[in-house]
Amino acid sequence: MDQDKIEDLFKEVLKEIGIRENTEVLKNTPKRIARAYKEIFSGMDDGNEPRITLFKNPCYDDILAVKDIPFYSMCEHHLLPFFGTVSIAYIPGNKILGLSKFPRITKFFAAKPQVQERLTKEVADFINEKVKAKGVLVIIKARHMCMEMRGIKSRNAETRSSAIRGVFRKGKETREEALKLLLEE
Ligand SMILES: [Zn+2]
Repeated sequence: MDQDKIEDLFKEVLKEIGIRENTEVLKNTPKRIARAYKEIFSGMDDGNEPRITLFKNPCYDDILAVKDIPFYSMCEHHLLPFFGTVSIAYIPGNKILGLSKFPRITKFFAAKPQVQERLTKEVADFINEKVKAKGVLVIIKARHMCMEMRGIKSRNAETRSSAIRGVFRKGKETREEALKLLLEE
């Protein structure tokens, strides 16, 4: 991502919006946006993919769930924020994932122009493939600023999505147990 180019282009956007005088805003806001974008869109750089440390599974055959990991992303349709929580349940195979990796994985896939559907799928598939889990279930709850600030102005609407892989897809009881862990207080 070329920071200088983003800065130049945003200067034009601001002028077009109507900020014409050479104020602090016209001078420095494009710089601030470029800097913020570097962080907000850091997931565009594959080099930032979280390094996965796997540990030998001691003896665990059941569900591990991490509930309500906060995330912030930008919708690719309007480049407005959407944000909320990602909740993940998985049943490990021979390896288990270090707990701190769940928020790192979430952050990486959220840090790009995204849609909630793809974010849900990418988090689930990444864990499923890297960990060779027996099953993965991901639930995302989000508020979308493009729904709340503009258009239909649908405040308080919560968009929920899920991705279900492996044993959670086949076994109803196992899936219900995971959903209980992920959704109940
Ligand atoms: Zn949108």
